[in-house]
Amino acid sequence: MKEQNYLDNLVGVFGHPVAENPGVVIQEAAFRNLGLERWHFLTVDVEPGSLGDAIKGLKAMKMRGINCTIPHKIEVLKYLDKVAPSAKLIGAVNTIINENGTLTGENTDGKGFMIALESAGVNPAEKSVVVFGAGGASRAICVELALAGARKLTIVNIPKDSALAESLVRILKENTRVATEYVPWAGTFKIPADTDIVVNATSIGLYPNVTGKPDVDYDTITTRMYVQDVIPNPAFTPFLREADKRGVRWQSGMQMLINQAALNITMWTGLKPDKEVMRQALEAALA
Ligand code: NDP
Repeated sequence: MKEQNYLDNLVGVFGHPVAENPGVVIQEAAFRNLGLERWHFLTVDVEPGSLGDAIKGLKAMKMRGINCTIPHKIEVLKYLDKVAPSAKLIGAVNTIINENGTLTGENTDGKGFMIALESAGVNPAEKSVVVFGAGGASRAICVELALAGARKLTIVNIPKDSALAESLVRILKENTRVATEYVPWAGTFKIPADTDIVVNATSIGLYPNVTGKPDVDYDTITTRMYVQDVIPNPAFTPFLREADKRGVRWQSGMQMLINQAALNITMWTGLKPDKEVMRQALEAALA
């Protein structure tokens, strides 16, 4: 008789708001393609005050791992047993691996971003980069850019979050060789002419606020620049529309999302998923 094993392997995402997070589409497509019929990805709405309870639930249900998104990436650190060195430096975790009740935090956001840059033929070594935002995604991206040898990082963030931006600048100065500057975002930001790479790492433009656009003087974008958005949904944001109008090379947050989701799957299952299958599933869902 065939062995009967109906035990489900659960992974997923904790966030708030999270209903529009397309992680489930990408991950389920990858699981089915890998023949992992009893692996399932859950999209779970966890409000800010409930993260501790949600982590207890994760352990109780022996979930194999979880992604953390807005607003939990920094808060979640205090619930973990181990944190990978790069995630520690970033100060934010987007992926948790549960090995028999021991929780390890990793950060694949910045790594997914770097793979996206590479696929666009952009090498950040010795480049000058402007990054909007100082939250979880920004921290991951800035650390990876600094470790990859970027020459200069300008972090533009709204003044009410200056402590967040200042702590990021301090971490970069203490641990890497990049020249780093925090610019309080007060009024329309003019991108310095010597900038090579421009990154929107804020949540401005994310569904359902699809008309949101960072307060930037878009006429300061020149053709020497490469523009990258982190927003995966919608893929073509108002920020990218402005970049496109100026004839610069750009990439949406979609490929970054697929890259980091692929890394997550490998951390949870030990298997390498087919990114093309994941991309097609995401494009179909967002069409
Ligand atoms: P956080 O909440 O940690 O950070 C968001 C940042 O954006 C904060 O600095 C925030 O400031 C800033 N921000 C938000 N609204 C405004 C505004 N109107 N003006 C100026 N600054 C603003 O979120 P994350 O870093 O986790 O995520 C940011 C975005 O990145 C999300 O849209 C997420 O979907 C996307 N993302 C994409 C990934 C991908 O693979 N493509 C991976 C990870 C994230 P404040 O805190 O004051 O609001």
